[in-house]
Amino acid sequence: MIEATLVLIKPDGVMRGLIGEIIKRFEQRGLKIAGLKMVRVDEDFAKQHYIEHVDKDFYKSLEEFITSGPVVAMAIEGVDAVELVRKVVGATEPKSALPGTIRGDYAHVSYAYADKKKISIKNLVHASGNKEDAERELNLWFSIEELHSYPNVHELHTM
Ligand code: AMP
Repeated sequence: MIEATLVLIKPDGVMRGLIGEIIKRFEQRGLKIAGLKMVRVDEDFAKQHYIEHVDKDFYKSLEEFITSGPVVAMAIEGVDAVELVRKVVGATEPKSALPGTIRGDYAHVSYAYADKKKISIKNLVHASGNKEDAERELNLWFSIEELHSYPNVHELHTM
């Protein structure tokens, strides 16, 4: 039941000064940060991360976006963390993301707008789509030494 998942704060979140606000959302929900680092991604690494999107129409703009500045990568742990983290993050399209979610509180544009402008949709955060993706993406982004095991207060008081 305890799972780990990958979260990235994308260049728009970093450049908008939202790193602390975004991390806070996961911490206040009782999730554990097991790994954390700032990384500048190159084109090859972007293709490995977004392997399922490489052949899609929007891929070139997605690659330009994810390589446009540093990202903050996090390994996040908790009960059913893959599903829960995606709930905290909200729908991929900011226009559809509900208020109370990260994307629903800090972004608003639509797929149609991004596609018309031929830019990637700027949606602040990446969160692994399912358990298999989470395992593959955590292996890509973090070495064993970068993932930390420690007790947090939620294990004493909320779990
Ligand atoms: P995901 O693997 O769900 O994170 O999708 C990859 C990322 O590609 C999304 O988070 C968006 O930033 C971007 N994206 C997905 N679909 C589109 C689209 N139709 N137009 C522009 N950007 C997109």
